[in-house]
Amino acid sequence: MSLSVQERGKERVVAEFDIVELARDLIRCPSVTPTDAGALDVLQKALERLGFICYRLPFGLGDEGKVDNLYARLGTEGRNFCYAGHTDVVPPGYIGDWSHAPFDGSMEDGVIYGRGASDMKGAIAAFVGAIERFQTQFLTGLTKIPGSISLLITGDEEGVAVNGTKKVLNWLTARNETIDHCLVGEPTNPERIGDTIKIGRRGSLNAQITIKGVQGHVAYPDGADNPVSRLVKFLAALEDHPLDTGTENFQPSNLEITSVDIGNEATNVIPARASARFNIRFNDCHDGASLRRWISGLCKSYAKEFDLDITVSGEAFLTPPGELSNIVSGAIAKITGMSPKLSTSGGTSDARFIKDMCPVVEFGLISRTMHKADECVATADLKLLSEIYLAVLEQYFLMPRQ
Ligand SMILES: [Zn+2]
Repeated sequence: MSLSVQERGKERVVAEFDIVELARDLIRCPSVTPTDAGALDVLQKALERLGFICYRLPFGLGDEGKVDNLYARLGTEGRNFCYAGHTDVVPPGYIGDWSHAPFDGSMEDGVIYGRGASDMKGAIAAFVGAIERFQTQFLTGLTKIPGSISLLITGDEEGVAVNGTKKVLNWLTARNETIDHCLVGEPTNPERIGDTIKIGRRGSLNAQITIKGVQGHVAYPDGADNPVSRLVKFLAALEDHPLDTGTENFQPSNLEITSVDIGNEATNVIPARASARFNIRFNDCHDGASLRRWISGLCKSYAKEFDLDITVSGEAFLTPPGELSNIVSGAIAKITGMSPKLSTSGGTSDARFIKDMCPVVEFGLISRTMHKADECVATADLKLLSEIYLAVLEQYFLMPRQ
């Protein structure tokens, strides 16, 4: 059925109204990782109304708890454009710090308050609204979208992320399904919608070292081996070593010592052990394996005996500026007149897993209140983001490829 201009106008008002209500409905589900609290049901219902085939993919039974995930697809052929994100949220923290209850979805002066408003339930609602308008306004006369739109939504992004996006991608691979391009809806804009697209992320490495010495009396150091002296020299060597000076797309890698733990209550005892922890956010000059080799080599030169525990939670990655970032930048320019910065700053996100399957960039709401008390989103920003997402779909599916 084709819609008249006037009817299309009405449709547009309804769709915009729905975005706000969908965001509020999602916020009302207290989906603190790994709990789903009905959030994926709310989203699935909205997507099924638009014709999506939905798959619920619960993973994990262990200590970290079962995690529910959703993969939804509209269309079966052509290029598959995926929107990825998460419905889980971080805990609200001290409730007294909130001026509006974190899970009420309350609204005041055109601002929706609640945990997940910006990170990233609001953005998911904006994308659903964009699909609805894409179907009703741009596909009149076409029988179907020339390709496929999918959503990959996890309930395990803010937590350990082992039963979320990574396992959904494995599930896709096992059924010979692929994603061609992916937009992750994390809040990327520091101040205004259109500021920043993320085209990569730094990697992250956490290390814990315990240096073992020989306990003894401080007055008789010859019979002891002080692990604190060794640890201090090791940490100084870590900090003195310049990792790199940055690359074309990345800021310099950074190492931060986060804790030094001796726990020695006596003033006259050389302790037997000394521990420290540090984190490295690294760019594409390094990978987890090269940093691991460097750290353990350094340990060996400062300590005779030590325990070293290193975890790499994500490698650095980059989707080089190209078709996908051009489409998103073009959509932002069309709607806001701004030309966004292509950035690789900030923490990790699930894009670190998706990059193994296809080009991925991130663009969402304003990041200012994420993970804070009174997390919020202006309804005007939700609508603006939805306009941009709509322009992305239009460019991706209806314009000639670049
Ligand atoms: Zn997030």
